[in-house]
Amino acid sequence: MADLTLADVLAARRRISGVATLGTPLVPSPHLEALAGGPFLLKLEIGQATGAFKLRGAANAVFSLSDDATGVTCCSTGNHGRAVAYAARARGLGAVVCMSRLVPQAKVDGIRALGAEARIIGGSQDEAQLESRRLAEEEGFCEVSPFDDPHVIAGQGTIGLELLEQCPDLATVLVPLSGGGLAGGIAATVKQIKPSIRVIGITMERGAAMYQSVRAGHPVPVTEVASLADSLGGGIGEDNRHSFGLCQKYLDEIVLVTEEEIYRAMQAHYFEDRIVCEGASAVGAAALIAGKIGPTLGPVASIITGRNVDMAVFTDIVSGRDVTLGDWTLRGKPHAA
Ligand SMILES: *Cc1c(COP(=O)(O)O)cnc(C)c1O
Repeated sequence: MADLTLADVLAARRRISGVATLGTPLVPSPHLEALAGGPFLLKLEIGQATGAFKLRGAANAVFSLSDDATGVTCCSTGNHGRAVAYAARARGLGAVVCMSRLVPQAKVDGIRALGAEARIIGGSQDEAQLESRRLAEEEGFCEVSPFDDPHVIAGQGTIGLELLEQCPDLATVLVPLSGGGLAGGIAATVKQIKPSIRVIGITMERGAAMYQSVRAGHPVPVTEVASLADSLGGGIGEDNRHSFGLCQKYLDEIVLVTEEEIYRAMQAHYFEDRIVCEGASAVGAAALIAGKIGPTLGPVASIITGRNVDMAVFTDIVSGRDVTLGDWTLRGKPHAA
């Protein structure tokens, strides 16, 4: 794509104010600060009306549609669908959200509660995407990609503007990474304002699509498996046009974390920060706790991207119980203070 410009991000911020919550809190985390050896801040996107940052990008895309748009469709691992449903309702448009069977029921219910149709299609995000593509081609819906859309990326970039306004001496940003709309948007934004800043994408070992794609130099498909970070599942699209190039250009590094590390970090955010967040949100802390973030010079921020966790799974995790992920059982362990 043509590079994301700061003008795109500033225009997004004007367009989405009143739909998404802007200026979300950036709060210190004393226990992670002790590990990092310097200021460690959490950017709390869990207060968005839909429970995740995705509302920024979805609102920018939906409110950029022309006046003759009649309905919106998307594929989603849950949070983008909820955001599109919310933004479509705010604009008076209908929405059909296509999802795979891997999407947790809590997320499906959240989408239906916003008046959108939730269509469950197949066992992978790719199959869900074929259906949203079909709705766009055959039934006249406007399709909003969860990550590979310039308006979505610009909307996520508004987090980057806020980070540097709230902490001008910020040195490192840890960004949960899946399709790369968030990481690409934030990295392009903060690096155009402050080129010395480090931006690290973090994702789970199981199905790390962007990591493998950046290594290969082109988008590669991955097998999708169940993960505690369910919002980070899915490929980046073999015809990726925007987010891959931005991640390739702007990310300094991509770090992988294990399911055990995500489990431990969710416990740490709960017991130490008193935060309920989903697995995808905990990957920054997971990487830090596991010693996978090298020495940091100056303040570090980790994006707490969403809170839409299945509460039965969450209570198992904070209680130290085992968790079943597809055909695999992750052995539980109580949080050690
Ligand atoms: C979508 C999502 C991400 C990853 O965003 P991408 O733009 O796909 O990389 C991270 N955390 C949560 C909670 C999400 O919903």
